[in-house]
Amino acid sequence: MLLVEDSRMFSTALKHGLETAHGVSVTHCSSLQALKTLFGTGQADFSLAVLDLNLPDAPNCEALEFVLSKGIAVIVFTATFNDATRDYILSKNVVDCVLKNQMDSIGQVMSAVDRALTNSKTHVLLADSDADSRSGLASLLVRQQFRVTAVDSGTQVLERLEGAEAFDLVVTNINLSDMSGHWLLAEIRLRYGEDALGVIAVDSSGDRQQAARFLRNGGTEFIQSPFLVDEFISRIFHVASIQNRVQALHNIAARDYLTDLYNRRHFFQVGPRLVDQCLRRGGTTCIAILDIDHFKRLNDTYGHEVGDLVLTAVARRLRAQVGEEHLLARLGGEEFGILFNSLNVADASRFCEDLRLDLASAKVTADDEELSVTVSIGLAIIEGRESFDNYLNAADQFLYMAKYDGRNRTVSELTLLNAMAS
Ligand code: GH3
Ligand code: MG
Ligand code: MG
Repeated sequence: MLLVEDSRMFSTALKHGLETAHGVSVTHCSSLQALKTLFGTGQADFSLAVLDLNLPDAPNCEALEFVLSKGIAVIVFTATFNDATRDYILSKNVVDCVLKNQMDSIGQVMSAVDRALTNSKTHVLLADSDADSRSGLASLLVRQQFRVTAVDSGTQVLERLEGAEAFDLVVTNINLSDMSGHWLLAEIRLRYGEDALGVIAVDSSGDRQQAARFLRNGGTEFIQSPFLVDEFISRIFHVASIQNRVQALHNIAARDYLTDLYNRRHFFQVGPRLVDQCLRRGGTTCIAILDIDHFKRLNDTYGHEVGDLVLTAVARRLRAQVGEEHLLARLGGEEFGILFNSLNVADASRFCEDLRLDLASAKVTADDEELSVTVSIGLAIIEGRESFDNYLNAADQFLYMAKYDGRNRTVSELTLLNAMAS
């Protein structure tokens, strides 16, 4: 973030506040000259700025013009705010404007930044069949830093939601050319719960029954038009921030505390759906369990903390190799699961062998010692519809064989077939 402010008191407080509250790094400039020098280096890359309107060397909003000309979103922070400046600032498409001479002006800047950052993480699917109204709402949202995709019908909303892009909110006019907002809401709620997707309607009919009905049926917010711009953006921000927090909680619940990999719960929640997709594609896929060899011995020799370091290092390595393509989780203790996304046993087996060799070659430095571990892997084919537990049990049996055979190896149906053939 960029902070342009000549008062030492305000800039110190804001820089500290923003860096601790939002974990962003803040670059501070106290004059237009400093700003120009900074941009002259060619290394200035900012998405958001908090900017004092009046600087000693820029009394007529020159700094604002300069920063806006670089395509950076601006929150104005100013002591002067007569009607003329107000009109001028509003005409400039700034994100927000905070007055300095108030009790909690620092707190207000912090909230404005919080809103802008939350909004920029929020992808809005906007539906309005009227082109003017659509572009009006879109520009309001874009100005508030929301990511916006605009469409002109309910059918398109449903199509986009099915697509690869993820959305957090749908904002729809209550009357679309091909269906009502109520109908659209019902279609959406068949597929997505209230935690997964917020749905907001905008209505100009003035009919209060519409609002009651929409909210009763799972709508998240209802905005009567005409509205004050401030009211509109505050209502949408409110929904976005709740959505954001719910998603953060979901994410925490799905992750393992030590390694930050997905946990067993998430594996069992998402796994069956992924298997279903693979089988529906008409193919087979595979599931693997990976278990660190003699991990108890390592714990007993070096202590639990070193054990934890090794677990974290193995997890990081696995994550780098497996990527987003397949589902990886820590199933518990020193055991990891991989559900492959449509991979036949020959390819999955090769994948596992690469993982095994990569892990064996890695060194973890702990207590001035270089440690290395090996893993054993059981790999099972998934080809018919069974319970998810059954798939995992099959992999576990192959894992048992890998341990029994001497560890540091991958065992699957393929290994057994090859052994019989030779
Ligand atoms: P094998 O080669 O047969 O897998 O032997 P092993 O010692 O790896 O297997 P065993 O299941 O006997 O022991 C697993 C150990 O992992 C026991 C447990 O204390 C340890 N463990 C489980 N979770 C954690 C953890 O979060 N941190 C650490 N440091 N150790 C853990
Ligand atoms: Mg083990
Ligand atoms: Mg184990």
